[in-house]
Amino acid sequence: MPKNSKKPTRSKIVKKLDVIFSQYIRLKYSDNRGMVKCWTCEREYFWKNIQNGHFQSRRSYATRWDENNCRPQCLKCNMYDQGRQYEFGLKLGEELAQEMHLKSQQIVKFTSDELIEKIDHYSSEVKRMT
Ligand SMILES: [Zn+2]
Repeated sequence: MPKNSKKPTRSKIVKKLDVIFSQYIRLKYSDNRGMVKCWTCEREYFWKNIQNGHFQSRRSYATRWDENNCRPQCLKCNMYDQGRQYEFGLKLGEELAQEMHLKSQQIVKFTSDELIEKIDHYSSEVKRMT
């Protein structure tokens, strides 16, 4: 028997939100065939075969689940080309890139309840789009 059963751990909540938020971002930019273009190289992929790329790193919780900071990105751009951050920002436009850069430097602490609220929100959005 696990000691503190039932209540999900913080890291599990974060992981769950990352998964559902990633699905949301990829679906948000896909067409009615489920095809979506990589934000930085513009190659087209089925939404399940692409990733959720972050302009400002996932290390910052302030922008980790900010829709303005995230776009679909292929594995190559996101992982092997280190997110192509410069091109990513250029395509976002100077104003938004600057806004995300500043926001990412803020220290934001979400409570577990706030994270669970986000999971619920994005779960229903994903359900609506699939
Ligand atoms: Zn790409």
